[in-house]
Amino acid sequence: MRYITQMHLGHFELLAFSDGIYHLDGGAYFGVIPKVLWERKLPANEKNLVPSGLNSIVVRTGSKTVLIETGIGNKLPEKMARIYGQPAHLLDRLRTAGIAPHEIDIVINTHLHFDHCGWNTIHQDGKIVATFPRAQYYVQEGEWRHAHENQRDSPSYFTGNYDPLVESGQMTLLRGNQEILPGVSVEVFPGHTRDMQAVLVQSEGETACYISDLIPTSAHLDLNWVMGFDLYPVETIESRKRYYSRALSEKWLTMFTHDPHIPWAYIERDEKDKLVARPPA
Ligand SMILES: [Zn+2]
Repeated sequence: MRYITQMHLGHFELLAFSDGIYHLDGGAYFGVIPKVLWERKLPANEKNLVPSGLNSIVVRTGSKTVLIETGIGNKLPEKMARIYGQPAHLLDRLRTAGIAPHEIDIVINTHLHFDHCGWNTIHQDGKIVATFPRAQYYVQEGEWRHAHENQRDSPSYFTGNYDPLVESGQMTLLRGNQEILPGVSVEVFPGHTRDMQAVLVQSEGETACYISDLIPTSAHLDLNWVMGFDLYPVETIESRKRYYSRALSEKWLTMFTHDPHIPWAYIERDEKDKLVARPPA
C-alpha cells in the first residue's frame, strides 16, 4: 500500500500507516488451504515466503487522536529480526504526516503478538518507556494473561511491549466489549487468540472496523481460509460469520491489519456469492 492513505468516516478522519512489510511462510499463513489455491492471490517467493503488511490506523475524532495497533517496532531480538525483518517505519511515517508521538491520546492493541504492539515502547536511557508518552493504552486483560502463559504462540510475545505500561498504569486491561471514547469501541472476536479484540469506529451512521487477525488480508475473506497460527480455528470461522452478518448488511469498512496492498475495503458478495473486497473509490 502507499505509505499513507486517508479518508473520512462521518465526522472522523482515518489515516492508514504501514510499519513496513515483513515475510511469513505462505503455508502457515493459509493453514490447511492448498498452495495451488492461495498462491493465485498472494504469490510466494523461492523460500515460500509471502509479503505481509503492518497496517496501523490513526483515527482523528476532532477531540482525540487514536492509534490502532503499533506494528513490529524496533526492539525485535536479532534472531527474530533475521527471520522476519524489522522495517520499523511507523514513527517516521507518522512524523511525515505531522503526527508527533506526544499527540497520540489513545493506543489500542487488538492483541499482544509482537507484530501488533512493537512500537508500544522504545528503549531510552537503558530503560523501556512508552513511545507515546501521553497515551493511555488498551488491551483485553485475558490477552495480557495469555501472553504470560506458556502456550503454542508464546514465541510471539515479548513482555517489553506491554508489561512496563501495565506497571506504570499507562495500559488499561479491559474485560470484554467496551466503549473507549464516543465513536470508538472494542469487541472481542475469539479465534486467532481467545481474547483478540476488534476496534469499531462509528460516526454519523458510518462504521469502520479494524478486524485484525480475524481476517488479516483481503486474501483471507473466505470463511475457511484460516491462518495456521490461529489457536482456535473453528472459533475463527464462527467469529467471521458473526462479523460478516453485520459488516455486509450495514456496509462496514473493513480495515486489514496485514494486507500488503490495501489498508481497507468494503466486503461484498459478488454474483457467484463469493466474498470480495472493494476498496473505496
Ligand atoms: Zn497475531
